[in-house]
Amino acid sequence: MPAHIAGPLHATPAPVWLPYPDDVNAVMPSLWSDNVAKDSDGVLTVAGHPVTDLAERFGTPTFVFDVDDFVSRAELFRQAYSAAFAPEHGLAGADVFYAGKAFLCTAVARWVHEAGLGLDTCSLGEMMIARAAGVPGASVGLHGNNKSVAELEYALDYGVGRIIVDSLDEIDRLETIAAAKGVVAPVMLRVTVGVEAHTHDFIATAHEDQKFGLSVSAGKASAAAARVVDSAHLRLDGLHSHIGSQIFDISGFQVAAARVLALRAEIMATHGVDLPEVDLGGGFGIRYTSQDTPIPVAEMASELAAVVAKECRGLGTNVPRISIEPGRAIVSPAVFTLYRVGTVKEVVTDEGVRTYVAVDGGMSDNIRTALYDADYSCTLANRNSPAAPVVVRVVGMHCESGDVIVRDEYMGGDVAPGDLLAVPGTGAYCRSLSSNYNHVTRPGVLAVTRDRVEWIVTPETYSQLFASDPGMADPTTDGKNPDPAER
Ligand SMILES: *Cc1c(COP(=O)(O)O)cnc(C)c1O
Repeated sequence: MPAHIAGPLHATPAPVWLPYPDDVNAVMPSLWSDNVAKDSDGVLTVAGHPVTDLAERFGTPTFVFDVDDFVSRAELFRQAYSAAFAPEHGLAGADVFYAGKAFLCTAVARWVHEAGLGLDTCSLGEMMIARAAGVPGASVGLHGNNKSVAELEYALDYGVGRIIVDSLDEIDRLETIAAAKGVVAPVMLRVTVGVEAHTHDFIATAHEDQKFGLSVSAGKASAAAARVVDSAHLRLDGLHSHIGSQIFDISGFQVAAARVLALRAEIMATHGVDLPEVDLGGGFGIRYTSQDTPIPVAEMASELAAVVAKECRGLGTNVPRISIEPGRAIVSPAVFTLYRVGTVKEVVTDEGVRTYVAVDGGMSDNIRTALYDADYSCTLANRNSPAAPVVVRVVGMHCESGDVIVRDEYMGGDVAPGDLLAVPGTGAYCRSLSSNYNHVTRPGVLAVTRDRVEWIVTPETYSQLFASDPGMADPTTDGKNPDPAER
C-alpha cells in the first residue's frame, strides 16, 4: 500500500534508542537533579516541594533550579580536578572555571565563587553580572573572538585574571588599551589545534575552518605568542584550547592536550618562557536522554591528568597548571522546565498516528531542539497515568512548525490539557538562549531548596518586554493591563 494511503491507525513508532518504559510514570534518576522525585500520586517534587504547588504559586512555564544539586556538582568538579592534578601525582594543580554563558545570574555567579570555582565570561554583560555578584576579577576569565574596546577596558579595570586572546587584531587593541592605562594585561592565547569533537567521535586534522582561535598549524599561534612575549604591556600566562560541546569521548581531549603542550614546549624553546597555565576548555557531555553515556567526572579528571603528565614527560618540560571550563555539565542537570499542557492532537502521518502535546512555552525557552537537533526527555508531572504509554512529540506555542521541545518520548496515552509536563536537563543554553519570539515574555528561574523557594531570575513582564517600543509606553487596553502577572 502506498505510504500516502492511511493504513490501520497505529501509533508512530519510537526511535530505536528510546526503550519502551517499564513504568511510564517513573522518573529515571540519572536524567534528573539529585533532589527530584515522584510521590506516590505521581506528582514530581523538588527538595520536597510538589510541582503542582509551584505551578499554582509561580505559574508556568518556569525553569526550576535545584540549588543543592548545582552546588554539589560544582564542588564535585573542583574536588575531582584538584585530586587528579595534585602534586603527589607529579602535576601542578587544576582550576575549574564555570562557563557562564551556559546560564548566568548573580545568584549563580555567587554560588560558583563560593564553591571555589572561577567564572568564565564572554561579554560585557556577563562580566557586569560577575562583578555585581562580588566575584573578584582575579577569578574571572574573558573570552570572545571579537571583544570590543569597552569590554577590554572593563576587563582591565575589573582586574580580570585572564583575557583569552583570540586574534592578532585583539593583541594590538589590548596592548593599546593596557598601555594607556599603564597596566600589564594577563593573556592566554586561544589556539586551534585541528581537533573538532562531536558527541561520540572527533575529527583531527591540521586545519580548522571556524571563527575561533589562532591556528597552530598555520603558525598564527606561534606568531601571536611572539607578539605577546615582546610586549611590555601584555603578559603571556598560557594557552587555551576548546574543542566542542556535549562530548562523550576522551580521545579528542587527549589529542588536543598533546598538541597544546607541544606548542607550549616550542614557545619555551623559542622564547625561553615557561608558560604556567594550560586551559583544556569545556564541552563535557551530559545525559539528556537514556541514549547519552557521560564519562564520570573523576574518571575524566584522572584521564586528563594522565595525558598531561605523559605528554610533558615526553616533551621534557615541566607540567603547567591546568584549567577546564565546564558549563553545561555543571548547570544543565540541575534544572527542569515546568510547562502546562494546553492542547493534545492526534495527527495521521506516514509513520502512523503521532500525538502532539502542546505546552505553554517552546522554542523561545528551549531553542536547542530546533537549533542542534537535540533530544530531550519529559515526564507527566502532576499525576500518575493509568493509560498505556504512547510516543508523543512535545511542541510549543510558537508560529513555527520547527517549534519542537521533545521530539520523541513515551507518556501515558491520557495526557490532557491542564496536565503539567516537566523536561529535565534544561539548565544550560535554554534560559541563556531564550528569546521573545512572537512577543512572549521569557520565563523566570525559580531556585528551590528544602527551606526556600525564590526567583533568581524573575519572569519577564509585558512592561519589560515593551519597554523598547516607544509606541507601547502604555500597554494597557481600555485602562486595563491584560498581563495576568501584572494584574
Ligand atoms: C561554550 C564554551 C565552554 C563551555 O562549554 P560547555 O559545553 O557548556 O561545557 C567553555 N569554554 C569555551 C571557550 C566555550 O566557548
